[in-house]
Amino acid sequence: GPVDAGDAGGQSTTENSMNGDGHGATDANVQIPARAPWPSLIGSPPRSLLSREKWLQAAIGAFVFAYCVSTLTMHRQHGYNMFWDGIEYNIAAALPIIPLLLRARRSSAQLKSWWFMAVAVALFTTADLIYTYHDRNLNLVSSLAPSSAFYVVAYVAAVIGIALLTQGRSGRVRVSVRLDGFITGLAIASAAALLWFEPLLRSSGHPFEVIVGMAYPVCDLLIIVLIVASFAPNRYRPNWTMALLLAGALWLVVGDVIYLKQLAAGTYVSGTFLDGTWLIGIWLVGLSASTRDRRRSGAPRSAVKSLPDTAFAPVASGFLAIGVIVASAVTSDSQVGFILGVTTLCLVIVRMWITLREERHLTASSEIDARTDALTGLPNRRMILEQIEADLGAVHFEAVGVILIDLDGFKEVNDALGHLAGDELLCVLGKRFETRLGDRGILARLGGDEFAVVIGGACEEDLVTIARGLLAVLSDPCVLDGVSVRVGASMGVTVSSAKGLNAVELLRRSDVAMYEAKRMQSGISVYVPVKDPNSREHLTLLSDLREAIDARTLTLHYQPTIDMRTGQVRGVEALARWHHPRLGLLYPDAFIPMAERAGLMPPFTRTILELAVAEAARLDHAGHNLFMSVNISRYDLVDEGLPNFIGNLLGLHGFPPNRLTLEITESALGGDPDRAAQCVNELRERGIRISIDDFGVGYSSMSQLLGLSIDELKVDKSFVIGLCSDLRAQAIVLSAIELARAFNLSLVAEGIEDAAVLKMLQNVGADIGQGYFIARPLTSEEFDDFLVHPDSGNRLSVELALLPAVN
Ligand code: C2E
Ligand code: CA
Ligand code: CA
Repeated sequence: GPVDAGDAGGQSTTENSMNGDGHGATDANVQIPARAPWPSLIGSPPRSLLSREKWLQAAIGAFVFAYCVSTLTMHRQHGYNMFWDGIEYNIAAALPIIPLLLRARRSSAQLKSWWFMAVAVALFTTADLIYTYHDRNLNLVSSLAPSSAFYVVAYVAAVIGIALLTQGRSGRVRVSVRLDGFITGLAIASAAALLWFEPLLRSSGHPFEVIVGMAYPVCDLLIIVLIVASFAPNRYRPNWTMALLLAGALWLVVGDVIYLKQLAAGTYVSGTFLDGTWLIGIWLVGLSASTRDRRRSGAPRSAVKSLPDTAFAPVASGFLAIGVIVASAVTSDSQVGFILGVTTLCLVIVRMWITLREERHLTASSEIDARTDALTGLPNRRMILEQIEADLGAVHFEAVGVILIDLDGFKEVNDALGHLAGDELLCVLGKRFETRLGDRGILARLGGDEFAVVIGGACEEDLVTIARGLLAVLSDPCVLDGVSVRVGASMGVTVSSAKGLNAVELLRRSDVAMYEAKRMQSGISVYVPVKDPNSREHLTLLSDLREAIDARTLTLHYQPTIDMRTGQVRGVEALARWHHPRLGLLYPDAFIPMAERAGLMPPFTRTILELAVAEAARLDHAGHNLFMSVNISRYDLVDEGLPNFIGNLLGLHGFPPNRLTLEITESALGGDPDRAAQCVNELRERGIRISIDDFGVGYSSMSQLLGLSIDELKVDKSFVIGLCSDLRAQAIVLSAIELARAFNLSLVAEGIEDAAVLKMLQNVGADIGQGYFIARPLTSEEFDDFLVHPDSGNRLSVELALLPAVN
């Protein structure tokens, strides 16, 4: 084919680059085949003229040159030479069609523009041929002939081609810019009419002829204006293509103006150098098609959007029109010029009005863009902050609520199915949240997998209800790429109770609450200042806790455990409590996470152990030889001195190590198995019992867990609480019991809340039981009561429940 790979590839990287308006950069079609396959091209200096078309262009140049020389050296008899003016001329005029068509073929983005220019040259040649073989013989006095129609259409086609080339091949062109070409043409026509119309009319007497004669230079000028205006986005630095086109248009305008003058004077004859100027013009246009444009880096794409650059043409046209109107009023000579000038001015006004509207639309849409999340179309962080501020300032809202939503498991979906699927998931969930929320509040996407809801005038309860509703929409799976996925979410709820809060702070608090929900895996969490590591309340509480640990003002509650076979009290679990001077009795979830974050766990645990072992020794002295269970955290596994500390403590109180059980959660043990194994072994060497707490929810590997030498499995209360109705829980508890048997461990079931569960656990062979049904955590005194009064608390019901099995 005419396009060989090397050139096509070389061209691909450069084609469409900078034909004056910066649109070329968006044409993916041509950009994709990068330089890589033709390494030989890299490094060689880019040539502006395609080498393949070099000889063709040279040939055309030779024809043009020969013709021009002939007009200067050869005298034409009767003003016409059949060989030169009839044949040579037409060949020279027709040949540029080839490079134009080749260019159209090379660049799909500009196909139409180059095709129009090829058509223009073809029409020009056709007109010439008609002139040569038909019109010339008509012997008309007037220059109006069938060929004129073709010439005019050729010029119009050229204008269309240039307009397409300069006004953007991709993307939509604004109405105002489209109008510019028309306005400019009209302004030039009004000036031309002012200058030439009346004189021409006077000499030739035929207005239509005058109009046709004027159409050529007007079209040329229009082309020139279009080309020059298109340089604006590139700071008036044309590339080769546009420069050659401009040169061609300049040649043509010179020729056409001279022709018009000769026409007015009636002196035009063919076969002079004037005819040559048209050939040169066409040749330059053809030459422009064979150029290779270098890509300029940093194409000023945005410049196309900015309005001032493109406003030059209508403003200049407006001034020109005013000049024409004034001049024709003063000379009262050219009515046509006057009418065209007024029309131009009217259009300029219309154009400016359209521009104003476009500008307003542009700023409005960019304002919306700046506040919209591009992916989901929801409001973005900026907008939600503005909304919160507005609601906070609104008098009719007592409080403003914020729910922060962070998806759980989104990253996994993204990793497994790809970003497109992840994006789709975000859109689907955004829609669902929006539908569920209705008009109760505003949903926004903050970024990533984070959403936020703002609700004006809601109380905490309302917000939690709404949050539950939002959480519920996640239970239906989403189908992405044929894969059905489900993600969860953690939500943080905040209400602006205190005045003086700003939007950023409100969002931050929701964020804190959301992280709390994530950590607790609780789905929804309401902001509590004491859990906020940055709040003043939290910092005060933390220093209070430090003091309490040092002063040993923490207390313990004791929850009894029973032997499932006999119903006898077997031991207690020590559970930390804190009587805060201001806040009252605090439960572990209010201060243990804080202690963990602040690195206070080792001293905390030592204090708890001291209190617990002292209590156990006291109970021993009172004649109750009970087991004492103490919880230790993952951070205590790091405490190298702990085994020694406990050893000393036990020695001090004379309490046997084999009745002290340390409960470590499954997740703490699974986190760092080597360290856990070392710590557990050291403790067990001292005879201390080890229990795995919350067994079944920690997701740790079974082989790792059972590789540790331990004494007890404490199956998590979540499986025990609903045991009777939950088959899954039954299966888990049963297999835990099997495991305990196989590894010779005691099995503790905590969370027994009713007689039926107690009964069932006894039947399946659990060793030890604990739970509210037996007793809630008790103070030391309450526990003493519990021990000495066999009918105290719930003990009778427990015994009753266990009775038949004992028989
Ligand atoms: P855990 O070790 O699983 O302790 C059992 C928790 O379940 C206790 O809550 C207890 O009151 C509660 N519970 C007991 N029976 C039932 C029942 O029948 N139904 C229900 N629904 N719950 C029951 P508490 O005292 O609030 O302790 C919460 C967690 O705090 C404990 O969970 C433990 O992980 C941690 N913790 C408590 N004291 C200490 C401590 O001294 N040191 C450490 N490191 N952690 C502690
Ligand atoms: Ca425990
Ligand atoms: Ca537990």
